[in-house]
Amino acid sequence: MRSTRGVIWHDGRFQDWHAARTHVMNHTLNYGIGVIEGLRAYPGDRGSAIFRLRDHTRRLFESAQILGIDVPYGFDELMAAQRDALAASGLDAAYVRVTLYCGVDALGLHADDGHPDSDDAQHPAAADDKDDWPQDAAGGLRAHCVIAVWHMGPYFGARALDAGIRVRVSSYSRHHVNSTLCRAKATGNYLNSMLAYREATRDGYDEALMLDHTGFVMEGSGENVFLVRDGVLYTPELTAALDGITRRSIITLAREDGMQVIEKPITRDEVYIADEAFFTGTAAEVTPIREVDGRSIGSGTRGPITERLQAHFFDAAHGRLDAHGDWLSPVR
Ligand code: PMP
Repeated sequence: MRSTRGVIWHDGRFQDWHAARTHVMNHTLNYGIGVIEGLRAYPGDRGSAIFRLRDHTRRLFESAQILGIDVPYGFDELMAAQRDALAASGLDAAYVRVTLYCGVDALGLHADDGHPDSDDAQHPAAADDKDDWPQDAAGGLRAHCVIAVWHMGPYFGARALDAGIRVRVSSYSRHHVNSTLCRAKATGNYLNSMLAYREATRDGYDEALMLDHTGFVMEGSGENVFLVRDGVLYTPELTAALDGITRRSIITLAREDGMQVIEKPITRDEVYIADEAFFTGTAAEVTPIREVDGRSIGSGTRGPITERLQAHFFDAAHGRLDAHGDWLSPVR
């Protein structure tokens, strides 16, 4: 019987949600070398469409390139698979998760010592001979791909988009730029995010704001951050932060709206005295920040510029902005 959570695209085949499995000794589970992408689909006048599918797929390939993982599918093939997975879900407003994980070809850090019980058999491009494996920086590990789709409402709850959220500066630093390579949306990078998020929510906050190893503001556990001061929009440079696609969208929309946007190092106290602050992310969309470390930000609720940019963002996502029709990939 089909699961209520629907189907999952796994290495080219649709499987029931509960039947999609991998070996418990897979390399990504043990060492965290894998790649994820997260996308949203929004309903619009012309049906459901995935927001910035091409850009997300490009980032997936770039993340794999950074980690030295060979993606076993072509770019167009993976774009089509994401659209197919959304169509199969029957949802029109949804979150799409793409995961590239490494199999059980090796049991240790030294991945090129292959393992006889590898899950090659599940792999569409399985080669009988280990000598044919791509010898890349991930040590010849073979990648597998999963696409799952589920319903996702506002990430921080229904009221957060209007009222804003409460944030604490994390005691955990964001990755050093030369440790786990932050341009990659790597599964292992989320250990840093999880520690920060869990600390913040355990302390009664909604989200963490992470500083880099030198103390400059970097990002949330799964969002980029923006400040507004005297009508100018500020965001940290992309050093240890993910190159967020929502961040890019907001920079474009703000400039089109006539705003000045400055990417620069931002200190913690600049956040405390900002007129407005907000997070951006596929899941978080544009979420106002109303409080940081017990200090109200601006009026302590969503500010007018945040509200305007949020409206532009949702107009683009729902296909109401002619200028950015190219950001939408219709499902059919
Ligand atoms: N930073 C981190 C650490 C994230 O996980 C995310 C979510 N992908 C973002 C920023 C925002 O990126 P995007 O807008 O592409 O979702």
